[in-house]
Amino acid sequence: MLPKINCEEKRKFFDTFYGSGSWDVQTSIIYGSVKNVPIKRKRSKTDKKKFSRNYYIPSADGNDMKVCKKTYLKILQISGSTMHQAIAKAKTSSLCDQRRKHVPHNKSADSAIIHILNHISSFPSTSSHYCRRDSSKKYFDSRLDLSLMYRLFIDKLKEEDPNVKPPRQSLYEKVFRRDFNLSFKPPQKDTCQTCDRLNKLITAEETLRAGEADTDKLRRLRKEQELHHRKAEAARDCLKSDMENSKTEDNLTVFSFDLQKALLLRKLITGVAYYKHQLSCFNLGIHDFKSGKAVMHCWNESIASRGAEEVGSCVLKYVKSHDIGPRMVVWSDLCGGQNRNFKIMTIWMYLVQSDKTNTEEITHKFAEPGHSYLPNDSDFGDIERKLWHYPEIFAPEQLYCIIENARVKKGKFEVINTHEGGVSRWYQGRGCYR
Ligand SMILES: [Zn+2]
Repeated sequence: MLPKINCEEKRKFFDTFYGSGSWDVQTSIIYGSVKNVPIKRKRSKTDKKKFSRNYYIPSADGNDMKVCKKTYLKILQISGSTMHQAIAKAKTSSLCDQRRKHVPHNKSADSAIIHILNHISSFPSTSSHYCRRDSSKKYFDSRLDLSLMYRLFIDKLKEEDPNVKPPRQSLYEKVFRRDFNLSFKPPQKDTCQTCDRLNKLITAEETLRAGEADTDKLRRLRKEQELHHRKAEAARDCLKSDMENSKTEDNLTVFSFDLQKALLLRKLITGVAYYKHQLSCFNLGIHDFKSGKAVMHCWNESIASRGAEEVGSCVLKYVKSHDIGPRMVVWSDLCGGQNRNFKIMTIWMYLVQSDKTNTEEITHKFAEPGHSYLPNDSDFGDIERKLWHYPEIFAPEQLYCIIENARVKKGKFEVINTHEGGVSRWYQGRGCYR
């Protein structure tokens, strides 16, 4: 006779399962709570089944409770085939196989794993700004580490039940490495994807034995690499000459614009802040080549996102409020969503046609991806270095103030706090900004 489970325990198991929002975590929960046991007595001689399955759900006292299959599926609201798939998937992962070998076969170990999975999933994670498209890896706040997470985990467990026996840190770390594709520090500044790809292919081709190497392929790859390097060099030379020309030619204005990676108001250091989504603030920097001055347009995610409309609004605002010569050269990186698109194009058309500005010619130049060292990068570097000195930031305005004072010797940055309404809308039907 199986013990009776109360509604609260069912609800808790259900919440744990769906609270993670990740199929990987759900798979691990299923794998951890369904156990194969050898069949002691076969019903018939033709019966080839070697194992039967027992189903457990965690209870409040830390011990798992055995339930029947029907109840188990009903609590999790999943079908039998979903459960089979999850177990098959977990089995094919070599990491999950190790769990069954190393964790002692006591009931509370699986319950502890479920608690750990749930705790790790409760931290917000972000993708990297630079390689979002190519990697599924997520990143935690860089000030977190496994020891701190474990301490927070123990605090949380003791808060729920003061008499609980917490699992060891080694188990916590093992689950973190085994079941999640997570890391703490964002990757270093972007390397060039084309360079990386070509280097790998050329090295692979070169390491092949003399008879196996495809000389034509190797020659083609080297040619491609050479061309890529020349393009990058040409873009750098062009940027340099634009910088010099802007200082000597009166009717020429050259500036570059770039969006800084999202700045999180992540400086709160109380335990609870680690579990919350933190407000992202955006900064579009515009750097004038002639004066070397930079204007930072700041807003946060409650006001607008960071697409072409927002980038376009800031650029438009800058051009309207500055004395721009008849010839204008603009530099940016090649990001299609933000800089190289139809919406930005319409701004240039508007500025050339409008009688409110005296701009007659606009050239928008794009730096070679991965090799774009725009002056904005150095501005943003100064801001990020300054931010390290501020352990606590509570409001966007405080962040903007720090940005303004990030530079001392070369003069302050001008900061424009873009309020609601400060972002122009792009009217698709009419193809213009307002
Ligand atoms: Zn490159």
